[in-house]
Amino acid sequence: MFPATLRVGVWYIAALCPHCKRLIPLFRDLTQGASNFRGSYQMTCPECKHKGVFEGQHYKPSATECLPEVANVQSASQADESNLA
Ligand SMILES: [Zn+2]
Repeated sequence: MFPATLRVGVWYIAALCPHCKRLIPLFRDLTQGASNFRGSYQMTCPECKHKGVFEGQHYKPSATECLPEVANVQSASQADESNLA
């Protein structure tokens, strides 16, 4: 049900847990956040197990929310560029 990995710069439709306020990515947003998306989902939070109606919203994860390995690669390449300059 959930995307296997979050990618930087990719939009998702995510549901906001009303209990723990955690955003749960549901699926890719193929409109890149452009659509007037409105929706609510009857589901159970994978974090706090709260069951209820979750408000859906657009969500684009930042680098810090994605895989740590990716962030490390990016910061390492930036350091190399500053060394060359
Ligand atoms: Zn929750």
